[in-house]
Amino acid sequence: MARTRRRKNGSGPLVVASNRLPYTFQRTAGALERRPSSGGLVSALEPALRKRGGVWIGWPGIEVRRNERISTEASGYEIEPVLLSDGEVQRFYHGFSNRTLWPLCHSFPALTQFERRDWTEYESVNERFAEAMAEHAEASGLVWVHDYHLMLTPGMLRAQRPDVRIGFFLHIPFPPYDIFRLCPWDRELLRGLLAADVIGFHVPGYAQNFLDCCERRLGLRVDRDTLAVEHGDRAVKIGAYPIGIEFDSFAETANASNGTANGDKGAERIVLGVDRLDYTKGIPERIRAFERLLELHPRHREKVVLLQLAVPSRSQVAEYRDLKREIDELVGRINGRFATASWSPIRYLYRSVPRARLCALYRDADVALVTPLRDGMNLVAKEFAACQVSDPGVLILSRMAGAAETMREALQVNPFDLDETAHVIHRALTMDEDERASRMASMRRRERRDDVDSWVQTFLDAADEPSAALGALSKDDVERWLRPFIKQYPLCLFLDYDGTLTPIVDHPSKAKLQPAMRKALEACSRRKDTDVSIVSGRALGDVRKLVGDERLMYAGNHGLEIEGPGIHPFRHQDLGHYASRTAALAQELEAVSSDGAWTEAKGPTLTFHYRGVPQAKRPKMIDEVVEIMSRAGYQARHAHAAVEARPPIGWDKGRAVLHLLRERYGPNWSESVRVIYVGDDLTDEDAFRFLAGLALTFRVGSAEAPTAALHRLSDVPAVQTLLEWIGSRPKISA
Ligand code: UDP
Repeated sequence: MARTRRRKNGSGPLVVASNRLPYTFQRTAGALERRPSSGGLVSALEPALRKRGGVWIGWPGIEVRRNERISTEASGYEIEPVLLSDGEVQRFYHGFSNRTLWPLCHSFPALTQFERRDWTEYESVNERFAEAMAEHAEASGLVWVHDYHLMLTPGMLRAQRPDVRIGFFLHIPFPPYDIFRLCPWDRELLRGLLAADVIGFHVPGYAQNFLDCCERRLGLRVDRDTLAVEHGDRAVKIGAYPIGIEFDSFAETANASNGTANGDKGAERIVLGVDRLDYTKGIPERIRAFERLLELHPRHREKVVLLQLAVPSRSQVAEYRDLKREIDELVGRINGRFATASWSPIRYLYRSVPRARLCALYRDADVALVTPLRDGMNLVAKEFAACQVSDPGVLILSRMAGAAETMREALQVNPFDLDETAHVIHRALTMDEDERASRMASMRRRERRDDVDSWVQTFLDAADEPSAALGALSKDDVERWLRPFIKQYPLCLFLDYDGTLTPIVDHPSKAKLQPAMRKALEACSRRKDTDVSIVSGRALGDVRKLVGDERLMYAGNHGLEIEGPGIHPFRHQDLGHYASRTAALAQELEAVSSDGAWTEAKGPTLTFHYRGVPQAKRPKMIDEVVEIMSRAGYQARHAHAAVEARPPIGWDKGRAVLHLLRERYGPNWSESVRVIYVGDDLTDEDAFRFLAGLALTFRVGSAEAPTAALHRLSDVPAVQTLLEWIGSRPKISA
């Protein structure tokens, strides 16, 4: 399919991706029939796509057979189906999306299932979506990804198309840190999202939860005032963009609907519930609260009816079937308890109704009881307000719905508190007209202004603006991390050299300490309460010469050799054995050292550098190098544009740090000193893992790479700020 037209001034073609397409496909008499999908999102985004042109990528909602064709014509834009097999739908959609992410994000951990096979399918389906996005995205154009089904796609798309702008909007809640971290793949999901340029949530609370997770699970620096996350050299903009509805269309339909929804309105008063049949909606709790109303306020008996519309949903998932049974039984019991010959308290409809009928129901209800246990936004509350075109009704709204953040004039309840809800229903049923009119007018004004078109425009404007970078790491930031950790203890600081104290340069011999970094380092090493060790992959003599400070301890060759004041020099027992073998290995590697690749022999270890080698030639070369190293009996480890040959002797930077700590402070070192480790390389991950729970660890640069470190520092200047704070921190008081 052809690429879309070029984008101009933020109004160019748009690529939209959502789980479902704006069309629903059904197989009738062997052919695939297409119908426009209903729902706010489709009607909101369609006009934008028609105006700007572009592509809508999504799943057609049906398994397409080999001989069948999907019609991809749409007015003004294209649709691109992502075809999924029934097996994929089972694990990606019913599985990870609806049995894992849906309950998790709605804070229902007890209903959340974590199945590795569902996760794997989620990854691979997300990859398919990302490929389709990469295929259709215009250079520097915008791809707008929707919802929890596609949380990994921003990362996968970014890897294929670094040039595009990516916007992501989550239509469900983002849960608190303590819930989200239950997911075994929470960090992968966060990293996937963070490849976007802008990530939108419905309300500020969800945005703050997301920032908490980025800070505490990925160690990233976040700005809670401007709402941004530092992710390597990028700042990701986070925003709260509450979605609206097609207000005018609902109001017009309510006006146009003839008759009353309830036959002879006036005979009985209607309390209305409208929901998908979902455990997040609090339907059983609502029915029980209505029962409480009839117990506490008998005057409403035979006068008020709870009209509950439950739209069938996800009946493939066991929890939804159980819920249906529970509601059936509850309705039966309460009707049996209170019904008279001419009145039943609960009228329960298990079906969906056409839009015109729904609007009439909204319009004629006296009270809307919108009491989800948790809801990203809740559109029913907004639709009810839009449809109050004559005698205004009262909206009762759960505090747990996103809509409660803006619809402050609603009567708010805790849906778990049945007595409170019963009292509030009573208050709503007895509210005078002036109060009803004032509350409703105010909500309607806001919902008309902040309608769904305004939501689309606000998000697109935010996505078009360049992200504001976070300010450079400040000493205050460092102080916040370090002061509560160091307290009154002396400090032992471990620092990698290349990529940590000096930027990575095209040849290791050029990696010199800059004067300001040297000064910061000296301010630390001069202090009596601070020991500094350099832990490097370089040969010990080499790194010692480069730093040139005799007060420091040095661990060279990834810790195979260690020296410094106050400790016995250490050389790993196998050092001599391997030192005599690297020359032969270096010679073998000569055969593959073309295009500027070269070998650095460092005694017992050796590094093969390929920084200057063209990208296209690298994979083959790396394979050969790894093969040669393995054959020679070395472990091949990947590093920055290099492969290192390490003796297979179970010794790494982690072991070296432990050795040094025990030498210097004795076996109970953790009682007498606080440890900080800063490194940028894969080889530092050994130390991060080893020191987990024992030290404060920082990984420098490359935010995409997973790390076991607790925090990230974006670059070498951030390391300098860290050292400057350590060097100038208040002395331990006696
Ligand atoms: N709705 C529907 N058919 C019906 C009743 C309701 O399509 O018979 C719509 C309703 O108009 C609303 C949506 O379902 O737009 C429910 O959205 P909400 O945000 O309240 O909950 P969700 O189902 O998205 O969790």
